[in-house]
Amino acid sequence: MIQARKLQERFHQIYGGPSNVYRAPGRVNLIGEHTDYNDGFVMPAAINFYTWIAAAPRNDRRVCVHSENFSEDVEFSLDDPQPQRRGHWSDYPRGVAVTLEQAGCRLRGANLAIHGEVPLGSGLSSSAAIEVATGYALLANSGRTANLVKLAQVCQRAENEFVGMRCGIMDQFISCCGKAGHVLRLDCRTLEFRLAPLPPGVTLVIVNSMVRHELAGGEYNKRREECEVGVRYLAGHLPQIRALRDVTLGDLERYGSGLPKDVYRRCRHVITENVRVAAAEAALEHGDLSEFGRLMSESHRSLRDDYAVSCSELDLLVSLAHKIDGVYGARMTGGGFGGCTINLVQSDRVADFRNRVGVEYQRATGRTPEIYVSQAADGVQAVTSAN
Ligand code: ADP
Ligand code: MG
Repeated sequence: MIQARKLQERFHQIYGGPSNVYRAPGRVNLIGEHTDYNDGFVMPAAINFYTWIAAAPRNDRRVCVHSENFSEDVEFSLDDPQPQRRGHWSDYPRGVAVTLEQAGCRLRGANLAIHGEVPLGSGLSSSAAIEVATGYALLANSGRTANLVKLAQVCQRAENEFVGMRCGIMDQFISCCGKAGHVLRLDCRTLEFRLAPLPPGVTLVIVNSMVRHELAGGEYNKRREECEVGVRYLAGHLPQIRALRDVTLGDLERYGSGLPKDVYRRCRHVITENVRVAAAEAALEHGDLSEFGRLMSESHRSLRDDYAVSCSELDLLVSLAHKIDGVYGARMTGGGFGGCTINLVQSDRVADFRNRVGVEYQRATGRTPEIYVSQAADGVQAVTSAN
């Protein structure tokens, strides 16, 4: 593989000597948005955009990291008694190393060269890709085999506790456990998951709106709090519930009338979205892509109207997609307030889709969207052995 060979060459220039190459994918979520932190259900696929890492062991307990994306080098010791977050890209690999050690995995020191091709900060989870690739590489480099579910949990903990981002488990999980040609339906409470094949002849097309509204981070945390307010209130009537995952629409209608209007809507989105994930899984089982696409469109409406996390650019991209033949479904994906849409498109219509969405979005907004075409890809893996 050309990328692996090139990265080994870069590694050799930077550190000297041979290296092994590993890669972990970014992801796109087909349906089940803002449900992961409510103990609910999600249905992502890994995409064929990866973070690549060339790694070799060192004889001490230092980790040296070179990022091709930032043209920067960082070094730290695995024996540092009080590792501190720096608010810098190196928090991601360092957080994973620190968290693996805390989890009882004693690591060897390592030289790492990282090249990420998942667009950074666009909602395709370059953060999970760098975490999972780093964790997998550090474990392999220490002669250990990764347990993929545990690795996903360690990477999530690193992002929550070391980086300081309160993300759910979805991104790290799919980057670990994705399978080519399949979507993964994950129960975010139990981590029980099922892989379901995507029918042939369909392609994932991701459109980057090229906007990222300022409110994104703050509003994400606010939505989480609104969900928590909903659960606390509803638990007054339904003492057995722990999360919105345990609440039905009937429960909400029966007991939710005293909730602030916005909180009621946030709860309704999460509850109906969980139902849509189950329906989408059934539709896929029956090969019914039209139904799957209809559920994606409903999900978008619910995110726009009830969860209030869309924006005019995402709404425009979705409505443009709906006008094009061969589009089964379209919706915003990721946290919202910008970022990307996911479109399920008949493979022979992808070229037409690209042209039309590209031209019409540009005409309406003055921005040129980036469009990424992907098949569902495999999760983290070793790509080559030492050269
Ligand atoms: P997303 O996960 O949607 O891409 P995030 O803000 O969660 O966006 O994560 C992006 C951050 O992850 C980057 O700003 C950088 O700090 C880090 N990162 C991702 N990929 C790389 C890379 N290849 N090299 C260095 N840092 C990276
Ligand atoms: Mg991220």
